[in-house]
Amino acid sequence: MKYGRTYNFSAGPATMPEPVLEEIRDEMMNYRGSGMCVMEMSHRSKVFQQIADEAEADLRELMNIPDNYKVLFIQGGATLQFSMIPMNLKTPNGKAVYIETGAWSKKAIAEAKRVYGDNLIVAASSKDKNYTYIPDCSDLDIPDETDYVYICENETIHGLTWNKLPNTKGHVLVSDQSSMFLSRPCNVSDYGIIYGGVQKNIGPAGMAIVIIREDLIKDLDPNTPIYMRYDTHANAGSMYNTPNCWCIYVCGKVFKYLKNLGGLGEMEKINIDKAKVFYDFLDSSKLFKGTVVAKDRSLMNIPFVTGDKDLDAEVVAYTKAAGFENLKGHKSVGGLRASIYNAMPKEGVEALVECLKKFEAEHK
Ligand SMILES: *Cc1c(COP(=O)(O)O)cnc(C)c1O
Repeated sequence: MKYGRTYNFSAGPATMPEPVLEEIRDEMMNYRGSGMCVMEMSHRSKVFQQIADEAEADLRELMNIPDNYKVLFIQGGATLQFSMIPMNLKTPNGKAVYIETGAWSKKAIAEAKRVYGDNLIVAASSKDKNYTYIPDCSDLDIPDETDYVYICENETIHGLTWNKLPNTKGHVLVSDQSSMFLSRPCNVSDYGIIYGGVQKNIGPAGMAIVIIREDLIKDLDPNTPIYMRYDTHANAGSMYNTPNCWCIYVCGKVFKYLKNLGGLGEMEKINIDKAKVFYDFLDSSKLFKGTVVAKDRSLMNIPFVTGDKDLDAEVVAYTKAAGFENLKGHKSVGGLRASIYNAMPKEGVEALVECLKKFEAEHK
């Protein structure tokens, strides 16, 4: 590894593509003859406006985003969207339908409850088996007055991914893609809103990207706090106040990096190939086990266990000593987790697997 860097399996903030970091380094003191660093620039300057416009245009191209969708860059991470979504989509007698598949959908449900109260319906859940599968959502009971159906498309902590979207019976689909954003092609018109915090699979922490169909940007009750309204951000081109300029700049670089790589179809192939290295190992290991049913396994976040807490802790220490960082599972579930986002090279996964094999051989 160059620069003495380690293979970093953090769930977020997470590893970044090295060519992107190198470009940022090269532009740090003087961005393209502007005489300043991007973090010193006015967000109202021509040079920054161009950075933001290009970032949006490149994202639109990568995801093939139709013209009737807005792309918003909003601070407050994905967590603020847990509140903004119900506040902006609620109609007077409307209901919100949520599917509970793990820690992040659970958090979103708790927040939407503050807005919807008893009109929030959890239509399906995999809580019965500790969030190890995606429930069958092909024929849910969805009331006519439903404002939207909500899913977390990749559960970062429990390691689940939706491979087939729920049948919303014609209602608006809202998806939290934080930990899978740009990991595979996505048909944007299947959704009303796609959003995600960018610090998992794209850039630095502190911002969410919200892709929202224009008709869902409504004129809200004038007492709604101004910053919580999608129309505020949409009408101001995501610059109602000072945006997270640095984050927009870095995300823009990652979009270009993905375009150069060949786009999301190519990225998906790489991700499938890379995750297979790890899952094949788990399936053949006598010591380590994956926790999720095979069909719903995430390509991004892989939780696994030995079945013995003390041994799990030993694995964390062992891998850390060998130069692999952040393999401890989330504090709410324990065990181990390897997050292998877009920027994790296949060599990193192969090296980790070798290390785990060695541990297993030593602990027969
Ligand atoms: C990390 C994460 C969040 C929360 O993101 P913040 O930017 O920290 O608010 C929400 N949803 C998912 C799926 C996540 O992985």
